[in-house]
Amino acid sequence: MCHRLYPLNQLTFAVFTERMPSSLHSIQPLNDWPKRPGGPLLISGPCSVESEEQYIETAIQLAKTGRVHLLRGGIWKPRTRPDAFEGVGAKGLPWMISAREACGLPVMTEVANAEHVELCLKHGLDAVWIGARTTVNPFSVQEIADALRGVDIPVFVKNPVNPDLQLWMGALERMQRAGITRLAAIHRGFSHVGDSIYRNKPMWEIPIALRTEFPNLTLICDPSHICGRRDLLQAVAQKAIDLNMDGWMIESHLNPDAALSDAAQQIVPEVLIAMMDSMQVRNAQSDDLKFINELQSLRSRIDKVDEEIIHLLGKRMRITEELGRFKKEESVTIFQIDRWKEILETRTMLAEQVGLSKEFILKYLEQLHKESIRTQTRVMNKRD
Ligand code: PEP
Ligand code: MN
Repeated sequence: MCHRLYPLNQLTFAVFTERMPSSLHSIQPLNDWPKRPGGPLLISGPCSVESEEQYIETAIQLAKTGRVHLLRGGIWKPRTRPDAFEGVGAKGLPWMISAREACGLPVMTEVANAEHVELCLKHGLDAVWIGARTTVNPFSVQEIADALRGVDIPVFVKNPVNPDLQLWMGALERMQRAGITRLAAIHRGFSHVGDSIYRNKPMWEIPIALRTEFPNLTLICDPSHICGRRDLLQAVAQKAIDLNMDGWMIESHLNPDAALSDAAQQIVPEVLIAMMDSMQVRNAQSDDLKFINELQSLRSRIDKVDEEIIHLLGKRMRITEELGRFKKEESVTIFQIDRWKEILETRTMLAEQVGLSKEFILKYLEQLHKESIRTQTRVMNKRD
């Protein structure tokens, strides 16, 4: 059994543990949907459809930029508190269709139940997305999948609000089993406790794990809901593309400060374009021989260092076993707080001297400590 463990704050979740094979392996990339001349996919539009005029005017302005491929607009808004604006509801769907007619771009909205799906299909929307609060609930996801059965409309699935890769994969699988072939995932960050500059922490390791497992699945990033504020959007959007994601969903509003939802994170179309202009889209591969050689040489140096690290970890663990036996003979407890404090202090200091971040070294030490306690416990409990 192959365990690859990804540390996730205090938790550790197994990404590649033994489990049922996933049908998502057969999924094809979106590639030519919507029609676009290659390059990253850009979905934009306001957080919420607020009025017919607002939506059509936004759509026209976004289409005029020539950079947007697909228009978004929330019709039913999942809001944390009941008094907040909950969307205009089904009456906004014909406005989206009028916007499409006015600007020629396909339109999409969020669906959270079967009734939403039926209304979208009835009005002829081009695509739908499943929001983060819905992805967490397999009952709702299955209800949506059943309502979509037999209708091969493109479906975008946002990650669940909690950092659970399996739940995200499960929602994608439910869509695929309902016959959806144009399927994509949206990374919108994860809710968290404690301080963060982000509204939803990106936890890049989770979309990376999804990407590693399903390289063909189209994966885009939603910097708007990750950041929750305008000034961070550019950096997050750039990072997503540096990680080889396929595009972005970014909220845009004609008058962001007056938006009825998510005012702090929306940007006007001109700012969106300026952002796109300064984005550096790098190639995933290069044909340049010199570059390939240099890359190979750097990778083999990394391979060698990794090998050394693993051997050293093995060596360290064998000493830990010896320590366990020694403590057992002397009837001494495994965990000694002073020693642990000393390890934390000295290693953190050393790590900082060689340019490693404190956050990184603490995560490493935490894992190492857990494993070493596990090893010593095993030694202590072994019958002689
Ligand atoms: C949205 O896209 O406006 C939205 C509500 O997103 P999320 O489901 O990511 O919170
Ligand atoms: Mn929003």
